[in-house]
Amino acid sequence: MTATRVRPPAPADARFLAAARLRAARQQPYLASALFAMVPVDSPGHGTFSVDGYWRLYVDMDQARAWGVEASAAVLLHEAHHLVRDHHARAAQVQVAPHERELWNLVADAAINDDLVAEGQPLPGPVLPHHLDLPARGVEEHYFAVLRS
Ligand SMILES: [Zn+2]
Repeated sequence: MTATRVRPPAPADARFLAAARLRAARQQPYLASALFAMVPVDSPGHGTFSVDGYWRLYVDMDQARAWGVEASAAVLLHEAHHLVRDHHARAAQVQVAPHERELWNLVADAAINDDLVAEGQPLPGPVLPHHLDLPARGVEEHYFAVLRS
């Protein structure tokens, strides 16, 4: 049996991520377990952070350093929200087709960012419901149904 191994981040990257995680956990303490459960995967050139259904956190450390710790913490909160809101399973429930995955991710982003921006989180360039002609404070499934039709 072989196991997939994730290369540990370089010490400076690990310190940066630790600072961003700690800040994120201070901002939304109820997400602390999720924030520290995500397993970082160094992803040079990715241009952002993202997560998959296995709680892997793909991080572009050059982008993280360009954002700084505060904005990176806000992006970590965003990614943790994808996981605790169970967006991967909910996509399956609404039968998101392969060609609709980008749309689902867009409405999920808008729903998360709506809440985080309202709290004053310094997200870099967040997509918000009004950018998609959607009402504020909506839920992902509703947003998706509106834009899908
Ligand atoms: Zn997102």
